[in-house]
Amino acid sequence: MKPVIVTTSWDDGHVLDMRLAALLKKYGIKGTFYISPQDREIPAKKRLTDFQIQELARDFDIGAHTMTHPRLPQVSDAEAEQEISNSRTHLQQVTGQPVATFCYPRGEYLPKHVSMVRRAGFSYARTTNRHVFTEQPPLESATTIHCYDHWSDALKVAIFARFNPVTFLRFYRKWDTLALAMFDRVFAEGGTFHLWGHSWEIDKNDDWERLERVLRAIAGRSGVQYDSNSDLVPLS
Ligand SMILES: [Zn+2]
Repeated sequence: MKPVIVTTSWDDGHVLDMRLAALLKKYGIKGTFYISPQDREIPAKKRLTDFQIQELARDFDIGAHTMTHPRLPQVSDAEAEQEISNSRTHLQQVTGQPVATFCYPRGEYLPKHVSMVRRAGFSYARTTNRHVFTEQPPLESATTIHCYDHWSDALKVAIFARFNPVTFLRFYRKWDTLALAMFDRVFAEGGTFHLWGHSWEIDKNDDWERLERVLRAIAGRSGVQYDSNSDLVPLS
């Protein structure tokens, strides 16, 4: 059987990432924190400080997420290139460690941005594509489930539920229950279970208990390989 891999990733670099990290540590789940050091959507005092980033880096993989979280297709090529490569340089300076992973803000990118990410020296980049259970091209890697109830995922959830209406209703807009069923499928059939989210979003939706329910269920399972995103691709 294919190996069973569990990986997680957490975007943006909000101070609540420290709470998330403590929860992951409690359950021995590995993960990558994608940090946008000057995220334009997070007030400065809610962003992780350099000291907090260093603290996170002791236990977790740190990935880059641009400097200011622009929508890449909407900025100039020169600006996109700088946003991508400066975020790597900055985080390497702060952590004193190589930064090999990148995440496209809002999952928005064009083929030219994939080339920029490669040129900047990243070996892995994550999109926001969901409902994927296998490894994808390393610079356009997908995820399995976002800790968020997407209205627009109805068709994908229906496919996962094999068009059984009862199963559909059990999963639709219930991301934690869906995550557990998806994990069970990967556990039975092999593949990669990639859980991701935003600490600020989990807090806003009062979803900490739902997240803990999922982490508790997927933790410490025999035969499962727990990886950071950077473990999914060997460093070049
Ligand atoms: Zn983001």
